[in-house]
Amino acid sequence: MFHLGKQFLGRAPKLHLSASTTVSGAGVQSATRNLNQTNNKPDQKLVNHNLTHKRLSSSSQSSSVNQMKRLAGKVAVVTASTDGIGFAIAKRLAEDGAAVVISSRKQKNVDNALAELRKLNLNVHGLKCHVSEPQDRKQLFDETISKYGKLNILVSNAATNPAVGGVLDCDEKVWDKIFDVNVKSSYLLAKEALPFLRQEKGSSIVFVSSIAGYDAFELLGAYSVSKTALIGLTKAAAKDLAPEGIRVNCLAPGIIKTKFSKALYEDESANDAALMKIPMGRLGTSEEMAGVVSFLVSEDAAYITGEAIVAGGGMSARL
Ligand code: NAP
Repeated sequence: MFHLGKQFLGRAPKLHLSASTTVSGAGVQSATRNLNQTNNKPDQKLVNHNLTHKRLSSSSQSSSVNQMKRLAGKVAVVTASTDGIGFAIAKRLAEDGAAVVISSRKQKNVDNALAELRKLNLNVHGLKCHVSEPQDRKQLFDETISKYGKLNILVSNAATNPAVGGVLDCDEKVWDKIFDVNVKSSYLLAKEALPFLRQEKGSSIVFVSSIAGYDAFELLGAYSVSKTALIGLTKAAAKDLAPEGIRVNCLAPGIIKTKFSKALYEDESANDAALMKIPMGRLGTSEEMAGVVSFLVSEDAAYITGEAIVAGGGMSARL
């Protein structure tokens, strides 16, 4: 379960923030795949749909319409994308023209998210994927390639925080769980995506870190350190991959209104205490985080790599 530090809540850590990122002790069940595949050929038609739309647009409408479809022809994988920030990122990338593969631990959540996105006529596919499960990650990329034929964008968004407390009070098992989901899975996802990203021009990776990675939240010690590690991973991988033209960047959200931070905005005094820390005087939205990611993976950010963009309403963020 996610918790925010008391410096934001202004009181003892009683406010447990319910979140779908809570780690289930049950482990991962074997996936019931919704493969939706009648043959092994990639559904290139689906990827081309957006390109065709773009061409039609250019002949009949102003160039500003084309600008809106800046990710036309791209294929993106976004992890932990059935709710919150990940869902908003998936939606935005699809609205910007990408074919997007969504996933999370629960098939039911995947189905619900797919239904919502498809109602908007967005080009999406989805499957169950617990990021710590090697088989799930393999299936994620296998299905992406078999459905869309390529991969241009990876957004690694999943995280967990099973316990609250200072960093050195953290139980070893909890530490391992946090680093397994937040850091190791991100590294493995990137490593496993790389052979596909290498085949495309202008590919990119975005890791979702946190403002807590810069300035540790008092009661989110180990979680904060895991988010600092993601900023390091971004910088190291960006240097390695820059000569190949693959960009690696990082989003560091401030306090964003999701299930994760529910207790914060549902409790008036905690909400007030949090707002005091945010110069802009409000929590961020998932859509605002999605806009940053869409920029980072687009050609508009073609000369940006190894960066962490803090979107925190002016909250202090320096290592
Ligand atoms: P959220 O609203 O609780 O959404 C969590 C999503 O992740 C759900 O779709 C959930 O679906 C999925 N998920 C959880 N654990 C997973 C796993 N092990 N593998 C795959 N999917 C998993 O959380 P959020 O606030 O959007 O957070 C998203 C990211 O932003 C995290 O990396 C978090 O650290 C970061 N962040 C959030 C805030 C904030 O204030 N909200 C601030 C800074 C950084 P299932 O239950 O179906 O798995």
